Amino acid sequence: MSQAAWIPFDPDIVRKTQAHTAQMTRWDEILTLPVQNPTTLEFSAADIMWSMVEGWRDSMDRLALIPYSRVNDFVRGESNNKDCPTKFHVEARRRRSPTMNCKPKVDGILEYILYWCSFGPDDYRKGGSVRPSRPFSQKRKTPAGRPNTKRGCNCHFIVKRLIAEPSVALVIYNHNKHVDKKGMPCHGPMDKMAVGTKAMFAPYISDELRLQVMSLLYVGIPVETIMQRHTEMVEKQGGPSNRDDLLTHRFVRRLERKIRRSVYELDDDDAVSINTWVETHQDQIFFYEDFSNTDTFALGVQTDWQLQQMIQYGNRSLLVSDSRFGTNKLKYPVHSILVFDEQKNAIPVAWIITPNFAHGEIYRWMGALYDRAHTKDPTWQLGGFIIDDPLADVRTIREIFKCPVLISLWRIRHAWHKNLVNKCSDIVKRSAMAGRLGDIIFSICRGDGGVELFEAFLQDFIDCTDFLDYFRALWIPRLGAWTTVLKATPLATAEVASAIESYHHLLKLRLLNEADENVYQRADWLVHKLGTKVHSYYWLDEYSGKDNFSRYWRSEWNSGPNPWRQGLKIPDSDVSVEDNCARVVSQKNKGKSHLVLNPGSDFALCDCSWSRRGNLCKHSIKSTKVCRDRGLVQPSLALFRYYQALASLVRCPPSDTLISDHAMAVAVSVRRQLDTLLCASPANPPNGPAFPASQFASRPRESEIEEDNTENGVSASQSHAASGNDEENVRIDQDSPTCKRKSGKASGENEELSTDKDSPTSKKRKSGEASDDEGTSVVQGMQPPETSSQATEGTDGSA
Ligand SMILES: [Zn+2]
Ligand SMILES: [Zn+2]
Repeated sequence: MSQAAWIPFDPDIVRKTQAHTAQMTRWDEILTLPVQNPTTLEFSAADIMWSMVEGWRDSMDRLALIPYSRVNDFVRGESNNKDCPTKFHVEARRRRSPTMNCKPKVDGILEYILYWCSFGPDDYRKGGSVRPSRPFSQKRKTPAGRPNTKRGCNCHFIVKRLIAEPSVALVIYNHNKHVDKKGMPCHGPMDKMAVGTKAMFAPYISDELRLQVMSLLYVGIPVETIMQRHTEMVEKQGGPSNRDDLLTHRFVRRLERKIRRSVYELDDDDAVSINTWVETHQDQIFFYEDFSNTDTFALGVQTDWQLQQMIQYGNRSLLVSDSRFGTNKLKYPVHSILVFDEQKNAIPVAWIITPNFAHGEIYRWMGALYDRAHTKDPTWQLGGFIIDDPLADVRTIREIFKCPVLISLWRIRHAWHKNLVNKCSDIVKRSAMAGRLGDIIFSICRGDGGVELFEAFLQDFIDCTDFLDYFRALWIPRLGAWTTVLKATPLATAEVASAIESYHHLLKLRLLNEADENVYQRADWLVHKLGTKVHSYYWLDEYSGKDNFSRYWRSEWNSGPNPWRQGLKIPDSDVSVEDNCARVVSQKNKGKSHLVLNPGSDFALCDCSWSRRGNLCKHSIKSTKVCRDRGLVQPSLALFRYYQALASLVRCPPSDTLISDHAMAVAVSVRRQLDTLLCASPANPPNGPAFPASQFASRPRESEIEEDNTENGVSASQSHAASGNDEENVRIDQDSPTCKRKSGKASGENEELSTDKDSPTSKKRKSGEASDDEGTSVVQGMQPPETSSQATEGTDGSA
């Protein structure tokens, strides 16, 4: 926030009176203070530079400006004070009503909030004073423990939101020590009287423990079990050492009752109900437009925890859009935004709910999503955004997140694979078709051909009518858009595809398991379930203590690494490759093995149950890796596109030598990391023999530059000269478009795509897509028992 954003003084006001002038000087000082925005998720007074400004009655106040959106982070940080843990509560709040019309004053206040340490201001200790206006301690028999914890603490601060700059909060710390009226410590480790009592610790349990208990309760773990595990944990560590260790039965029971009594249907009318929900869940919403605004409704849900995950795992990393979930079952399909944790498991960091027809209008909410992360951490920057829909508004995404956009093939791969299994019983023919589809996609990505390749496919497999009917009806109308996107957009890796697939599968198990399917028609049910039960499962996925509850493991619980990780764990010796198939020894039963057809292709088919349901199984993943390591197949499409980009960078380096050097350094370092990752075995050189010759063109030059950079330090002129020399050695295709033109072309194509959305054909496409999901969601949703058993089999790696 720049100082220029402040509204200048009204000279009229300044000229008023002497007394006023003194106060004005004070405001003058205040308004020149910088707005401080620490990049940590929460921050305390210690993280801020405080200014001393003369306050009322000659006292000195400590002042600071912070963004208004971060007041809660400050309150949390102050509560988690290591020396004196507490909680700050709102003791008083005043809001200016929007209609109130008053003179424009420089110190006009929109909102005034007084935060007080929860061990004060009253004092219920022996001989302490209680404000006469609060005589409730005598009246109530069970005062929920709260008034008794009051120990006369004087620590408090004020937050003011100014009319002049509503995005900024002025924090005034009047009293920053946790002491009573006599100036003595009145709670925490410094208070001798508090030793051995609850006053040693914070007055309430932490938000983290609360979320943990809520999550366990939501997924159906009984109060008794939660308490038992908790007590065991505290005993193990040798007694209570903080407030959280003092968790009580009563507290957990109260939460359980609250959950049990909560209902999703707040009104018969779904729209009214949603409105009410939105009003009471403001902190979980980053975007809302009801039907009255634009005729379509859009609701963006993001809890505080999800925002934290987005900031933590999205920073300099990937955000993935899973654009449609439940199109066939739900009245309002779910659009998920995902990040990946260290294990490369997907965590949903936002859910957007819109009617089917509003699909694709991401520009409406995407900015709000970005702003939310960015206000919390101004340095937050995305590394890449992955889409799964060729009609996605790539330009908007690029503009908002300022990062490259990639596309994932998982939807195509999953749908074709699954339908081949269901609609083509002849295994040999099935694998031939899958292999052919894989080759076609590969050719399109390489720029060798377009939609016409599919025409030939239809001709060659004309006798497999079931699959061809499906393919013609659902895919032919959409292949144009896919072809355009595949040619213009870099591809996400199969690892990403596998992680999205697992997310999609888990969400099905966690969300679409209702006995009464009528609820699927209501938006209030959907937001309620996502925000409570489903959210809890994803929270627990990341919770290290979940293993303590193993006897409650069910298919909805994510267990262990995803198929990609499992695949990489299979030893090479368990894989044998011959002709067009691979045998992979089952990891659970070493006497058994699985047959993978088309190993090395994106359309490998395995005979395990997970693969037969259209998924990328660990056996296919492992056999593909083995084939690539041995140079039996071409490198992955993602890697191919990466080398392609690298080659084009080499051919036409940016005009600015500094940028050019930097880009080279980055490219070389990424490449090295990739090589280490993908080709760990020394027997397999980074580029297998099957690697297309054109790609090698750039190699010698990279090593030259690498040497320049590492041995002589980064030297702009040297690298530049190197690239100059090399252009001749490389035999560049002079007709190839320059970088600039190339990117222009790419965005031109995207433009076509986005306008295409409004055309009548695109509507057809959308409805086609909707029914496509039919095959995916219905079967699994309708057969929970079978699904569950298969799910565990698939994810935790039986087979
Ligand atoms: Zn205090
Ligand atoms: Zn398999």
